[in-house]
Amino acid sequence: MSHQYAVIVVGGGIVGATAACALAQAGIQVALVDARKPEKEWDAGSVDMRVSALTRASQNILRNVGAWDEMAQRSVGAYQHMHVWDADSAGVLHFDAADTEFPELGHIVENRVTVAALWNQLEALESATIFCPAKVADVQNNEQGVQVSLSDGQILNADLVIAADGRDSALRAMQGIQTTGWEYKQDGLVATISSEKSHQATAWQRFLPEGPLAFLPLEKGQCSIVWTLSHQTAEEYVALSDEDFLVRLEQASGGVLGKMLSVGTRGAFPLRFQYAKQYTSERFALIGDAAHAMHPLAGQGANAGLLDAAAIAELLIKAAQAGRPLGSQKVLRQYERWRKGDNLAMMSSMDVINKMYTSQYEAVRQIRGSGMSWVNHSAIVKNYFNRYAMGLRADLPEMANGV
Ligand SMILES: Cc1cc2nc3c(=O)[nH]c(=O)nc-3n(C[C@H](O)[C@H](O)[C@H](O)COP(=O)(O)OP(=O)(O)OC[C@H]3O[C@@H](n4cnc5c(N)ncnc54)[C@H](O)[C@@H]3O)c2cc1C
Repeated sequence: MSHQYAVIVVGGGIVGATAACALAQAGIQVALVDARKPEKEWDAGSVDMRVSALTRASQNILRNVGAWDEMAQRSVGAYQHMHVWDADSAGVLHFDAADTEFPELGHIVENRVTVAALWNQLEALESATIFCPAKVADVQNNEQGVQVSLSDGQILNADLVIAADGRDSALRAMQGIQTTGWEYKQDGLVATISSEKSHQATAWQRFLPEGPLAFLPLEKGQCSIVWTLSHQTAEEYVALSDEDFLVRLEQASGGVLGKMLSVGTRGAFPLRFQYAKQYTSERFALIGDAAHAMHPLAGQGANAGLLDAAAIAELLIKAAQAGRPLGSQKVLRQYERWRKGDNLAMMSSMDVINKMYTSQYEAVRQIRGSGMSWVNHSAIVKNYFNRYAMGLRADLPEMANGV
């Protein structure tokens, strides 16, 4: 059977589902294809291992596509402070929402909460059609249009395909788009923990020789940890008994949250620096992790992807309103120019920070310690970093700027 749409979005994770919602809300006929059905319901009290620190800009985008209210109803953990310190130097940085015009610096949200709210929105939109579970078998794109064949034999035709199918994007490979990057030989170990002391609505991050350890405050008092470790150590720590793991975690935390009391399921995700050499080809665009994968130390991957989604949606909506073709090279080039440089700058700074903080050279240690203290005492520089971390910078898509 053959179907006609304006845009096909492949991948309904945080990024693809946001792009699909934004387009469908503007009346653009969208097909969303995903290989897996997202989790919509779960046991009360359970917590997803995967969470994201979402910036103010991301909150604005998610509110604009209609998902934020359901997310807030389900569970979002606002944080008012961010405290970063270096285990190997005197460097300390503290950010406080009181220094901004906002009540919080950001929110820690389980990925499943965001995805469920986006899918509920999409399912209610007349202009959106969901194909799930469905895998893409083939993509044929040329000047006339694009045809996506699903492995169950269905054929989808459209003006444009947006690939949001994650960092191992099959669609990127089908288009022959090359990537540049490397494996970090580090894993992000994630788990939900509870501790003796309150997290005080603070995102804590301690830089350790193997990589940073972050405690991200959840709504109900627990924390989600993201602990960057060498691949070998991560494997070892995932296999430890809960008791032994909690001892290591408490040591690594420097005791900042007191005794570590309990830990849930642990998982380790290999970390990669990777960017697509081009974001677009004929009637084709990459967004989110399919375009760029970065170190999670500043929690910016999903935030960067949400900006991609908002940017491409804005350009496509404007083209549709002006009666211009959606898959035109002009629109795609605008998107690529808008987002590629910003993403590369973000990923490169994460990479430099990771290298600086895992370096054991005394000179580097001293520089990072005094650099942190200098930033901490300079109101102007600190404000700049604060706003950047909140996703508030120049050239944002309109949806990221507030309602
Ligand atoms: C340890 C860790 C911590 C992180 N913390 C943060 C954080 O605090 N803040 C932050 O902003 N980011 C964070 N990130 C990054 C963030 O998780 C990712 O950037 C984000 O989830 C990417 O979303 P996406 O929608 O682009 O891709 P994905 O979440 O990978 O979604 C891809 C979707 O495509 C579907 N799919 C895949 N292949 C196919 C196919 N062939 N056909 C159909 N569908 C397909 C999948 O089922 C999936 O639904 C972290 C990452 C890690 C590893």
